[in-house]
Amino acid sequence: RTILGIESSCDDTAAAVVQNDRTILSNVVAGQTDLHAAFGGVVPEIAARAHAEKLDFTIARALAEARKSLSDIDAIAVTSGPGLIGGVISGVMMARGLAAGSGKPLIGVNHLAGHALTPRLTDDLPFPYLMLLVSGGHCQFLIVKGPDSFTRLGGTIDDAPGEAFDKVARLLGLPQPGGPSVEAEAKTGDPSAFALPRPLLNRPDCDMSFSGLKTAVLRERDKLVDAQGGITRQNRADLCAGFQSAVSDVLAAKASRALNDYLDLNPSQPTLAVAGGVAANEQIRKALQIASDSAGVAFTAPPLSLCTDNAAMIAWAGLELDAIQHPGLTPLVARPRWPLDATSPAMLGSGK
Ligand code: ATP
Ligand code: FE
Repeated sequence: RTILGIESSCDDTAAAVVQNDRTILSNVVAGQTDLHAAFGGVVPEIAARAHAEKLDFTIARALAEARKSLSDIDAIAVTSGPGLIGGVISGVMMARGLAAGSGKPLIGVNHLAGHALTPRLTDDLPFPYLMLLVSGGHCQFLIVKGPDSFTRLGGTIDDAPGEAFDKVARLLGLPQPGGPSVEAEAKTGDPSAFALPRPLLNRPDCDMSFSGLKTAVLRERDKLVDAQGGITRQNRADLCAGFQSAVSDVLAAKASRALNDYLDLNPSQPTLAVAGGVAANEQIRKALQIASDSAGVAFTAPPLSLCTDNAAMIAWAGLELDAIQHPGLTPLVARPRWPLDATSPAMLGSGK
């Protein structure tokens, strides 16, 4: 089976063609970073308009690179939420049009399910596995039991780590997206130069908090500005290193808790998988690897290009749902909010 995937839920317009034997025939991502750069963050109105403009071309390119025409495709999978609603609607409308024109079935995919199922696109990973989904808008531990079956063990009670990386970058005058620029800066910093908190570590659950950590960085910056009139390059590197280490410590400690709960399910091949944009961070990957090793659990992380937003993961989730002939057909509607553990009966949408 071959599926065309379409993704437009945030600031990347993406299309991909993927086969059920895990071959990614094409994976095209058209970013919008320059469009939003002047505003210090993604502007929903601008994103929606850019998606509407770029979808056509992006899909055409994905098909061309895959050397397929729409008639060779078995189904069209599209992100139908959660995300910025204007972008989601643009993608859903485009997919609906293509499905209506070609007579191909349409599969509505939850963007988070796309991230959560990505490790199965790159590896023959059996269910159930433990997933840490850690991105710009989300942070949660999920037991992935099937393409439409997720149990949430806990997650952030305020900001997502990616959002915190972006805010820290902004308050230190580093470019967006913040994750890569904070990571680069942290390389020359001393992580113990500033005492930054590890929120909620004393709580015995898998919940996390990152908003206070970001505020702690802000407070340290302001103290430096008051004391010395500004921050030095070294101060900035130290703050980045300290912040990154704090995020990494929290994620690793909570991963150990989540692994504990997950191992009670006693799967024969226990695995922790990580996905989402923040999974690109080297220190965070290493810390999760160590947590997995000490729990005797395998660790896997998809390649970076599949960790951040892309349409190959949406096509793959479509293939997974297609393979189990998901019964819960509902009208495919765009949803701004769509928690993963509530996806079950409505994961698959019919375009008709
Ligand atoms: P969601 O998937 O929750 O809707 P999103 O689509 O915005 O959110 P992704 O594209 O998965 O999220 O990830 C983007 C986020 O990942 C940004 O916040 C970015 O700063 C962060 N990020 C990217 N690379 C790194 C890195 N090397 N270290 C830390 N964070 C990173
Ligand atoms: Fe995403």
